[in-house]
Amino acid sequence: MLVRRANTLLLICLLLVNGGGCAFQVDSPNKSFRIGSNSMAPTWIGPARQAVCEECGYRFLVDDATYSWEFPTRCRCCGGQCTVADRVIPGQTASIQAVASPREIQRLDAIVFKTEGETQSTVKRVWGLPGESIELRSGELWVGGHLFQKDMQQLKAICVNISHFPSDRVSHWEFKINSEPDGVVVPIERVAKSITPHDPVTQAIRISAGHAIRYSHRIPAPIGQYSKMQSSRILDDYEINQGSSVALHSIDDFLVNAQLKELPRDLTGLVRLHYRGFDYEMHLSSTIDFVPPQAKKISLDKHGALVLPPAREMAFATCDGRLLVSLAMERGRQDWIVELGGQTIAVDTRSKSREQLSPCPTAKLSATSPIEISVQRGQLIVTQLAVARDLWLGARHPRDDRWLAKEPIPSHHFWVLGDNLPISLDCRERWAGGIPFHQIHGRLLPPIR
Ligand SMILES: [Zn+2]
Repeated sequence: MLVRRANTLLLICLLLVNGGGCAFQVDSPNKSFRIGSNSMAPTWIGPARQAVCEECGYRFLVDDATYSWEFPTRCRCCGGQCTVADRVIPGQTASIQAVASPREIQRLDAIVFKTEGETQSTVKRVWGLPGESIELRSGELWVGGHLFQKDMQQLKAICVNISHFPSDRVSHWEFKINSEPDGVVVPIERVAKSITPHDPVTQAIRISAGHAIRYSHRIPAPIGQYSKMQSSRILDDYEINQGSSVALHSIDDFLVNAQLKELPRDLTGLVRLHYRGFDYEMHLSSTIDFVPPQAKKISLDKHGALVLPPAREMAFATCDGRLLVSLAMERGRQDWIVELGGQTIAVDTRSKSREQLSPCPTAKLSATSPIEISVQRGQLIVTQLAVARDLWLGARHPRDDRWLAKEPIPSHHFWVLGDNLPISLDCRERWAGGIPFHQIHGRLLPPIR
């Protein structure tokens, strides 16, 4: 995924081999089927080979159709060269749930269909519904002239994981000994082994006052460079597509998820996430101030920071021009949506109450600078940290930043895309008017992980 090969011929070959679909045989609904390609990866994995980094041991799957022994397979953690197995692992099995009428199909459902003249079925995700006018602008979906905005659960269902501590040995996470700009920075994995050896949770990070955890996105540098990894914006890059060659776009929409060892009920601490808006170089800091558990409402302090109740799991996302916050509480989950730019409104999605907040500086946030989690007072023990990204809904041609459907989607038709957008053939250039309902076998049930 690192070496950006301008090899259009290879891509064309791959698309022909792959068919751009997620092909498998379907006899009748409500059965299990084997996924036949990786156009829906990483949600569903088709035939793939196991790759292992020779230097750091990181393991991941490579699409059998895009793999070529002629090109080195690189590790996203350390940039090292990987060994790829000869054996091809068959695709995952997935279950189909029948749908009786077009009304049962919702946006973001994965559907299975078979077009005329084709022997195998295809899986794609629904983005446009009957009667809608669809447009892709700068990687985002616009429906009827309005930006489609996902909530946290929708983002979590389709996002692509790019870093996960401790299950991946990803060096993108660093531990900062103090919050000074020139503070000592060490890889988080080393800290996890050295500072918490007696902790029952052996791979946990203890963040005390003056400490911070930083995430900096990096990609493997071109072969021959001095450094194996280089700083990068988050890209629409799929590690499974090692052999494909497509233009990569930077992703502004990403998700940070932190799981804590226990509910920090007595903690009077402060967690600070820093983002920097790329377009405007303005700074927004979202501050989660732990307050007594009875506090249920989101509010802003005088510095414009979010004040939230404590939670065992905290997720933050910048998505479709909004800041999404989701907290797993003792009694269920609470989600908030903060609109960024223009009218700034926080919505408690449970109570549907709306609260006017002070304006945020920019609608576009981007992880161009490190994401930093620091504790000002108290102590926080983090057991899992993950960063994921949204899908970039690009046009087929790399230079096109915009795609516009000329006609509204006909009645009983659905406009679909593959999750693995760089290698997917879908409604961007095929089945332009959408997929008619009578060709749809059903909805694919989410994979069991
Ligand atoms: Zn490695």
